[in-house]
Amino acid sequence: MTIYHISAECFPIAKVGGLGDVVGALPKYQNALGESSSVIMPFYDNKYTRTHEFELIHSGRLQLGMPMDYNILTLKNNDLGFNVYFVDVPYLLYKDYVYSSNDTGRFLAFQIAALNWLVQLEKVPDIVHCHDHHTGLIPFMMSQCYAYQRLRQTPSVITIHNGQYQGWFSHDLVHLIPPFDFGKVGLLDWNKLVNPLAAGIKCAWKVTTVSPSYMNELKYAANGLEHLLRTESHKCVGILNGIDSEVWNPKTDTYIEKNYTIKSVESGKAANKAWVCQQFGLNPELPLFVFIGRLVGEKGADLLPYIFEEALWSRKLCVLMLGSGDNRVENQLESLKHAHVGYYNNYIGYNEKLSHLLYAAADFLLMPSRVEPCGLNQMYALRYGTVPVVNSVGGLMDTVIDVGENGFGIRHSGPTVHEVVHAMGRGVAFYGYKDHFKKNRRLMMQIDHSWDTSAKTYINLYQSIQL
Ligand code: ADP
Repeated sequence: MTIYHISAECFPIAKVGGLGDVVGALPKYQNALGESSSVIMPFYDNKYTRTHEFELIHSGRLQLGMPMDYNILTLKNNDLGFNVYFVDVPYLLYKDYVYSSNDTGRFLAFQIAALNWLVQLEKVPDIVHCHDHHTGLIPFMMSQCYAYQRLRQTPSVITIHNGQYQGWFSHDLVHLIPPFDFGKVGLLDWNKLVNPLAAGIKCAWKVTTVSPSYMNELKYAANGLEHLLRTESHKCVGILNGIDSEVWNPKTDTYIEKNYTIKSVESGKAANKAWVCQQFGLNPELPLFVFIGRLVGEKGADLLPYIFEEALWSRKLCVLMLGSGDNRVENQLESLKHAHVGYYNNYIGYNEKLSHLLYAAADFLLMPSRVEPCGLNQMYALRYGTVPVVNSVGGLMDTVIDVGENGFGIRHSGPTVHEVVHAMGRGVAFYGYKDHFKKNRRLMMQIDHSWDTSAKTYINLYQSIQL
C-alpha cells in the first residue's frame, strides 16, 4: 500500500510534542512491515532544514485568495527510514516556528499544496492519513472539491492526537477552500464556524484516537465535539501509540551520560542521576521526581508550583522540571528555586537532549494531566526504568498499572494537589523498599511499547477500507 501521512510535525525535522514523535516513527514501522509509507509536511525554517540538502521534485501554483507558488522538496540524503515530502510555500510556511496564533492561511495553503501535488501523481495514494486539525480539511477536500475528483476513491483516515485544538475559523474565509458544491458547506461547519477537526471527523473514512480510553472520553469531553463523536462512533477507533524503540533506547541513546541495559540499570541510572543532580545542584541521595512537558492546563501545569511547594518541605525528595508554556506558571516555578535550594530546580524551555537525560536519571516521572490523549512520556519513562506517577486519565489508564494492583507505576485519581502529593509520598515509600524498587525497574524496562503492534493495527485498519 502507498500511504501518505500528512502532518504539521515529524521528528526529527520539527517536533513540538507527541504528534512529532508519532509521525516520525509510525511510517518507519509501517515500511518495515512491507508497506510504502511517507510523510508530507511543511518546509519550516529550522535547524534541520538549514543543515540538510533538498531536491526540488515539483513546482506548482495554488489559489489562496490570490495565486501563490509552492514547491515540493525531498531530502537528498535520507536516513530516516521513510520518505518525506516537504511543502514549501515561501512566505507562509517557511517560518522559524511550527505554530502561531494566526495559522489559518498557513495550514490551508499547506493542505491545498499537498493535495495539488498528490492529485497529479501518476499513481494516486492507497491511503491518505491526516493528523490533527492542521490537516483536517483534507478529507473534505478529497471528497468534495472539484479539483481533487481523482482522489475521491482514495480512503482517508484522520487521527485525533488532541481534540482540544480544532483550528476553527470564520465562514468569511470559506472561499479560500478550492471550489466545491456549496450545498455541502454544512460538512465544514460546527457551531457556526468552519471547524477543520469536525470536518475531518465527518469526512474521513475512519477516525482514530491515540488510545482506547481517550476515544471513550471524547464522547463526553471533546471541547464541543462530543455529540459529533458519538454520532460518528461507528467509524472511530482508539489505537494506542507506540514509541520509537530505536530513538528511545537507554542502551544506545547518545544524549545520555551513561548507556545501560536491564542488567546494568542500577549503575547506569545512578551515573545519569549523579550527573544531572550535579548540573542542577540537587541531592543525588534522595528520590528524584521529574516533570517534562508543555506548561498548559491539560498537563496540570498550573498545579505544579503548589504540588512542589507542598511535597518539597518534607526534604525527602528532589524535583527537576523541564518545560515551557504559561508565563505565570513559569514565574511561579522559577521562584521556587530560591526557597528549595538543593531540592528543586528547573529548566524553562524546550531541550530534547535534556529530556532524554531526565528519563534516564529520574526515579519518578510526574504526569498530573487533566487530559492525556495517549501520553508518550510515561512510555519513555518505562523504557528507561523510571516509575511513572500519573493521573488516571486517557492513555495513562491504558499504559500504567499501579504497584498496588500487581503493576509497576503509581496512579492517582484526580489532578489535585492533594492527590499528587499523596502519590509522591507513596513513591518515596516505594523507593525505600530497595529490592522491590530495583526489581520493578527491571520489570518496567521489559514492557514492550514499541510501534510493532500498533503499526500492524493501522495497516489492518487501512485494509478494511480499501475498495
Ligand atoms: P503532548 O504531545 O501533549 O505534548 P506527549 O506525551 O504525547 O504530550 O509527548 C510529549 C513529547 O514532547 C515527549 O517526547 C516529551 O519528551 C517532549 N517534550 C515535551 N516538553 C518538552 C521540553 N520542554 N523539552 C524537551 N522535550 C519535551
